[in-house]
Amino acid sequence: MKTIGLLGGMSWESTAVYYQLLNRMSRERLGGLHSAKCLLWSFDFAAIAAAQAAGDWDRATEMMVDAARGVERGGAECLLICANTMHKMAEEVQAAVNIPLLHIADATAPAIKAAGCRAPVLLATGYTMDQDFYKGHLKNRHGIEVRVPGDDDRAEVHRIIYEELCRGEVWADSKETYLEVVQREVQKGADGVIFGCTEIGLLVKAEDFDVPTFDTSALHAAAALDFALGD
Ligand code: GLU
Repeated sequence: MKTIGLLGGMSWESTAVYYQLLNRMSRERLGGLHSAKCLLWSFDFAAIAAAQAAGDWDRATEMMVDAARGVERGGAECLLICANTMHKMAEEVQAAVNIPLLHIADATAPAIKAAGCRAPVLLATGYTMDQDFYKGHLKNRHGIEVRVPGDDDRAEVHRIIYEELCRGEVWADSKETYLEVVQREVQKGADGVIFGCTEIGLLVKAEDFDVPTFDTSALHAAAALDFALGD
């Protein structure tokens, strides 16, 4: 089994889910006392969120590159960025290390295609929904065109991520908001939902929707384990 390097803490609420999934899937796949070999770098998310909010992506990239080099030095054989948003600097991070970065959108795209979805709606942070680094990756590398909710809905989806989910707060009202946002998009023709923020699976589940869902953290963790086990 190869050692999986995790850049986490963005937020730790979802990194804890990655850790649990990797270990549970290792046990399911290998049995007995098997668990995942991993090396976790966990940021103080306040520093990351401050750089994001200030638009200081250079500073955020520096922090990510330093961390990636650290886990590589520690013996990691692949790298996961345990957040969708921080794939904004995926290319710079990959260029700074000699181990493969397993991109979260590459882990998600096959599931979208397998489900036959042609117009999934992306729920994510404002950075991920508004900018092109993630939507462009899905379009250019995988031919998947995603939709995003309207302005007010995007603002509310973003607010709930930073003010609630990243702080471990999971509220029924916010779940209702997410369901309504998706309902509006489904009425306009969306045929799937990408949980394009690694905390979203803490708030809503596949069974809450009538259309297929794609939970990026679960798909990313599964892809990492495939890599670690050489599948
Ligand atoms: N975990 C989140 C994501 O998947 C949001 C936090 C962050 O900005 O890194 O995008």
